[in-house]
Amino acid sequence: MRVGSVLLAAALLAAPADAGSWPDGKHAAVVLTYDDALVSQLDIAIPALDAAALKGTFFLIGSNIAPQQIARWRAVAAEGHELGNHTVRHACPHASYPPAKAIDTSEAYDVDTMLTEIRTMNTMLAAIDGKPQHSFATPCGQHLAGGADYLPALRAGGLVRYTRAADPVAGPLDPMNVPASFFNASATGADLIAAVQHAEHTGGMLVFGFHGVGGDYLSVSAEAHAQLLAYLKEHSDTIWVAPFSTVMDYATSHRR
Ligand SMILES: [Zn+2]
Repeated sequence: MRVGSVLLAAALLAAPADAGSWPDGKHAAVVLTYDDALVSQLDIAIPALDAAALKGTFFLIGSNIAPQQIARWRAVAAEGHELGNHTVRHACPHASYPPAKAIDTSEAYDVDTMLTEIRTMNTMLAAIDGKPQHSFATPCGQHLAGGADYLPALRAGGLVRYTRAADPVAGPLDPMNVPASFFNASATGADLIAAVQHAEHTGGMLVFGFHGVGGDYLSVSAEAHAQLLAYLKEHSDTIWVAPFSTVMDYATSHRR
């Protein structure tokens, strides 16, 4: 969950800065990410993606996965969607997430505790999808543990391949701090499509960050989401839609 700075028509990222071609001469790369392991993702977003033959990335919170949902997430991975690491308990600073219990706020953590939790979530993901490596999304778009920045230790430890952050940041693409654009419940399909069109014009990469889709919280409507997917499918000759790690593999190896 990411409360407090959900962006509508966020400043859009064109990254990396040097515009080159994406695979098969496509003009832009679009990544669809969904956070927090929400039921509306299983019930609404994934069927919509499957109907459009598009693949997304789902950053799961370990403590949000009910045992009876494991088979569903395993099937999601088996059909080509990506499962990513969003920690076990989603600890982030109290100011970013006031409902959290004291034990779940990142002030109660230190860097070692946070890295141990990320390692534990990697193990849980491997048990679900059988993959040896995973990407990561920072809870609440923050990377603080006990007030210390844990991103340097995460980089050094090699626990995760790439990290999706939150708000756009200036400068060249940093694979361990990749911005994403979030939209609130008033976003229309046209708003989401306008963001894609901006990426097409700049030759860049756009990472969408969603939570609920037609349900749960911080939601976009099922209709807006469906209109976005229809646009992406219709323009598949020029827009590359792929999971986060797939696009980042390409971006880091071809577009430096
Ligand atoms: Zn989250």
